Amino acid sequence: MLSQKQLFLQHIGQTSPTPLAIEIEKAEGIYLFDKQGKKYIDMVSGVSVSNLGHANKRIIKAVKKQAETYMHLMVYGEFIQAPQVEYARLLTSKLPENLESVYFVNSGSEANEGAIKLAKRYTGKYEVIACKNAYHGSTQSLMALMSNKQFSQAFRPLMPGVKHIEFNNEQDLKQISNKTACVIVEPIQGEAGILTPKNNYLQKLRKRCNDTGTLLILDEIQTGFGRTGSLFAFEKYGISPDILTIAKAMGGGMPIGAFVSSKKIMNSLTFNPALGHITTFGGHPVSAAAALESLKILSENNFINEIDKKGKFIISKLKHKEIKSCRGTGLYYSVELNSAEKADRFISTAVDNGIISDRFLYNNARFRISPPLSISYDGLQEIADAILKTCDEI
Ligand code: PLP
Repeated sequence: MLSQKQLFLQHIGQTSPTPLAIEIEKAEGIYLFDKQGKKYIDMVSGVSVSNLGHANKRIIKAVKKQAETYMHLMVYGEFIQAPQVEYARLLTSKLPENLESVYFVNSGSEANEGAIKLAKRYTGKYEVIACKNAYHGSTQSLMALMSNKQFSQAFRPLMPGVKHIEFNNEQDLKQISNKTACVIVEPIQGEAGILTPKNNYLQKLRKRCNDTGTLLILDEIQTGFGRTGSLFAFEKYGISPDILTIAKAMGGGMPIGAFVSSKKIMNSLTFNPALGHITTFGGHPVSAAAALESLKILSENNFINEIDKKGKFIISKLKHKEIKSCRGTGLYYSVELNSAEKADRFISTAVDNGIISDRFLYNNARFRISPPLSISYDGLQEIADAILKTCDEI
C-alpha cells in the first residue's frame, strides 16, 4: 500500500520540488504534531493565518454552531446572513469612517482582484501602480504586479497597464499621475523580508494619491488582525486607505477575505452593469462566524497591546554570530543570517529542532518569525532557544 507521503507526491498538485512534506496528525496552540508524535512550534502561523493559535476552542465552537445552523445558502449578496452582517458591523466599527462597506470573498487574491476592479470601475482609469518586491497574489492580474520576472514571465501576457515604483522611494511617487486608477501597497512589505516604511513614506504616498485623484489600496492581508502590533498596520502610520484588503487571519483558520471601502466607491459594482463582482462562496457563513469570533477575541482585554512587547522580548534573545540583523514590528519579524546558504540550512535544520520557519520570496538570506499572537512568553523563550541551537548547528 502506498504511504500518505507517496500519495501526496503522486496526487496533490505540487508547488515546489522540495515540500516540507511533514505528515501532520494534529495542531494545537503554537504546536503542530506529526504522525510520529514529534512536536513542532509553528513559527509562521501558516503564513500569518493562525494568529489566535491552532484549534482555538472559541473559534471551533463558533464554527460548529454555524455549521449546524446553516452553511451555504445562495450566491453572494442575495440573502441576509447574520454572520456576514454582524461581522461587517463589528469590523467597520473599528475602521475609519470611510471604510464602511464590506465585500466578502474567499481569499487574499480575490480581495485584491476585487479591489483593483473596483478602483478601475470607480475612477474610469486602468493604470495600476504597485511596488517592486510586493506580493499581492498569484492570479494573472496579481502576477502582473510582481516586479520580479522570475515568477511571472512564464505566464505572460498578464494584466496590462501596470507600473512599478520602489517602496520607500519618495522620488518614485512622481510616477503616480492623474492617469493612475490606483496604487496597491502593503503597509509593510512582507515578501521583501518585512520591510517597514521609512520617513513618513505612507503619508507621502497618501498625499500623492489625494493630489492625483488616485485610489489607495492597502493590502493588509498579511499585516492585518494584530500581526504588526495594532489591529491594522495603517493605524501605526497615521493614514487610511480608500480600499482595504484583508484575508488570512481574518477567518481564524477558515478561508475568507474581503475588500472594504466607502459606500460611494463600493456602489460602482452595483450599477451599470450590476454584478460588478460575483462570487458563489464569498463570505461563507461558517467562515464568517469564525471571523466574527476571531475579531471578538482580538478585541478583548489587552490582547493587541501585548504583541509589540512579545516581539521585542524574542528579538532581544537573538544574539548569535550567525545572525546579522532582525527587522520588523509586532510579531512580524525577519532574521537575516550571514548568507542565503545559511538561511537554507537554518530552515531545514530548524525542522529537526522542532521549529517551522519559512523563507521570503524576494529576500533569501532571511527567515521569518511570525508565531501565533496568542503565544506565551514561555513559548517565545522556547522558540528563541531553538533558534539559537539551530544557529549553532548551521
Ligand atoms: N497579499 C499578501 C500581502 C499576501 O501575503 C498574500 C498571500 O501570501 C496575498 C495577498 C494572497 O492571498 P491568498 O494566498 O489568500 O490568495
